[in-house]
Amino acid sequence: MRLFNTLSRSVEELKPLSPPQVGIYTCGPTVYNYQHVGNYRTYVFEDSLVRTLKGAGFQVRRVMNITDVGHLTSDSDTGDDKLEVGAKREGKTAWDIAAFYTQAFLRDIASLDILPPDVLCKATDHIPEQIALVKRLEEKGLAYLIADGVYFDTARFPGYGRLDPARLKGQKAGARVELVEGKRAPEDFALWKLTPAGQKRHMEWDSPWGRGFPGWHIECSAMAMKYLGESFDIHCGGVDHVSIHHTNEIAQAEGATGRPFVRCWMHGEFLLMNSAKMAKSAGGFVTLADLKDQGCDPLDYRYHCYTAHYRKQLDFTWELLESAKTSRRRLREAAVALKDAPAAPACAEHLAAFRAALEDDLNLPGALAAAWGCVHSPAPAGAKRAFLEEAEQVLALGLFKDEARDALPPELQALLERRAAARAAKDFKLSDELRRELDSRGVLVEDTKQGQRWRRK
Ligand code: AMP
Ligand code: ZN
Repeated sequence: MRLFNTLSRSVEELKPLSPPQVGIYTCGPTVYNYQHVGNYRTYVFEDSLVRTLKGAGFQVRRVMNITDVGHLTSDSDTGDDKLEVGAKREGKTAWDIAAFYTQAFLRDIASLDILPPDVLCKATDHIPEQIALVKRLEEKGLAYLIADGVYFDTARFPGYGRLDPARLKGQKAGARVELVEGKRAPEDFALWKLTPAGQKRHMEWDSPWGRGFPGWHIECSAMAMKYLGESFDIHCGGVDHVSIHHTNEIAQAEGATGRPFVRCWMHGEFLLMNSAKMAKSAGGFVTLADLKDQGCDPLDYRYHCYTAHYRKQLDFTWELLESAKTSRRRLREAAVALKDAPAAPACAEHLAAFRAALEDDLNLPGALAAAWGCVHSPAPAGAKRAFLEEAEQVLALGLFKDEARDALPPELQALLERRAAARAAKDFKLSDELRRELDSRGVLVEDTKQGQRWRRK
């Protein structure tokens, strides 16, 4: 398995620390609004990675965080917390905003057939771990206290910024205009922000430095180390995280432990709309609900994601989505037509091409081409069907769903999505209740390694 490592800027053979286990940390959503399809490009890329590794025989432990505090509207430690901004916008508390958009996110990833992470951890559930890490950094002389909060002293961490090629070339990414008073260097970043005197936040905690809240970057270092150990295999996110968020995660973790934090850093490129990164702040963004309104299935979007390598930018237009929808329909029709073919070993030649593409730095366009190659080949029907069943484990395009026959009414579909979200959040009480409810309405649900599966009673 060869993967591009942003840190070494080269494609490397994956050498897990304790094979066959692979530990993966993926930065999750900031839950102050709906995630857009740009965000979901990154989660689809990460899900293909997990599925590919599982298919190659690795035992994957995937951790994803939910950022429900500390992510400011500006990367320079000024501006408001996005959650508090969301709370003002909707006249709710930051806690309500976080709960609402976390559920929306979990429903979305279930509808994209993204496997639930093994650990889904919220920043607000890990305040003691974050405080402990800041204290460790303070004891090592890597942190200093100013009126605004506790800051990481980047000048005292040798090799700061080595993840970011632009920074090493001397072109500092993300020119920072605003400066927090007392910060020793523009690169220094908040570990713990103090609530300004006379103000009250929805989310704040006592700490050795005073009442306040954690900086955004510290949550990922603290939770990644808690669930995967001080050193682990793979850390993923979108490319926008290279220059600041992941650079700072490395500084915090390695500053505290003195050990290498992550062996392989992987970054997905942007989804573009109108030639610019799709972003909430830019105004124009598309959600999965918009997509459904246009008559598209989230899995049509998943197909669209496979039309470019994850390290290349990808355009989003409705025409491109429509063409992905047509291609997925054709592939699904081919799969459904093979449903009753006799059992046979999978078509070896195409399976080898499919796996080779995936193992070559997750070449999904190549893997998709191998799938089409198999469908159009003169191979026996059973061999094609077995190939497609295997390919579906990674592609997750709903290939064996005969949608006309299987379609459930929207309210039952919604119950299934809620149950998948409840399971992902490890709320087994709710997921059992929903299973009973579905059962009483004629739908049997079973849980498999690939997520929940349903059939009519
Ligand atoms: P956020 O909720 O802003 O923390 O972002 C969640 C994930 O989406 C992060 O891994 C980002 O890097 C990623 N992301 C944000 N915008 C885009 C985009 N336009 N294309 C691909 N990934 C994105
Ligand atoms: Zn993160």
